Amino acid sequence: MKTIRSVESMTTWSEGLRREGVTIGFVPTMGALHDGHRALIRAARLRCDALVVSIFVNPTQFGPAEDLAKYPRPIRKDRELCRQEGVDVCFEPSASAMYPVGCQTVVTVPAIAARWEGKARPHHFAGVALVVTKLFGIVRPHLALFGQKDYQQAALVRQLVEDLNLGVEIMVRPTVREPDGLAMSSRNVYLSPEERIAAPALYKSLLAGAEAIHSGTTDVSVVQSAMATVVKHESKVTVDYLAVCDPRTLEPLSVVTSKVVLLSALRLGSVRLIDNLTVARPSGRR
Ligand code: AMP
Repeated sequence: MKTIRSVESMTTWSEGLRREGVTIGFVPTMGALHDGHRALIRAARLRCDALVVSIFVNPTQFGPAEDLAKYPRPIRKDRELCRQEGVDVCFEPSASAMYPVGCQTVVTVPAIAARWEGKARPHHFAGVALVVTKLFGIVRPHLALFGQKDYQQAALVRQLVEDLNLGVEIMVRPTVREPDGLAMSSRNVYLSPEERIAAPALYKSLLAGAEAIHSGTTDVSVVQSAMATVVKHESKVTVDYLAVCDPRTLEPLSVVTSKVVLLSALRLGSVRLIDNLTVARPSGRR
């Protein structure tokens, strides 16, 4: 496995392979890799001839009061996971290589970025849109894989690729969970032992919402109260949002008519956790 730090060397490597007809798969990450990242890497490995994983803690997607400085960076362990999984290149650019002095272009996907995570983290999606656009320009992949764990991010990337004709196929893979249902996340290490015990309430609330829909509830306020009931007994948990949305536009719904996505965000002390679940209305009901 090669480690590439220079932006120019990364593009040269990819362009050389593209000329030979090699298909390039790409998994962008911020490192602190876990089994959720591993699943994306494995799915990419099966579908492409050559595989690039980027490890870049992107400063532009963190707000001023967020955890950029303390974000975990176990780079040796990350490289080892990549090596084990047959990654060809670990791309590890510096922030100054990605954002040289004078870099001024802004990329926004306004409607998707306005809601949910975008409200809670006003800088976040502009940073994500910019870094994904830049990484695609540098790595030049045929296929890029993202996790459903970050549902709104995946929706934004799909829209961006379509709007800007970036010519990269996007694949979204299911969320990988701990045995108790908590979605794996690099930020789970911030949870205290008590918070870790309370954290699966997030997924349980999504399951309660799904169960309400499966049993025929179409009124979104009833679905939301089923979700809220699960978390209200957890004294350590504060709800940011529990939403029932259109799976493509992420607009909030008032009635469940077909497939929906349940989106939720909770705070446990200083840690913010997000999760989601897509749910189809049972067939035969109108
Ligand atoms: P991050 O390193 O957090 O920026 O995540 C890099 C990629 O891994 C994104 O596409 C995430 O959605 C995805 N990812 C993170 N956690 C999980 C998980 N638990 N299951 C599946 N994919 C995940």
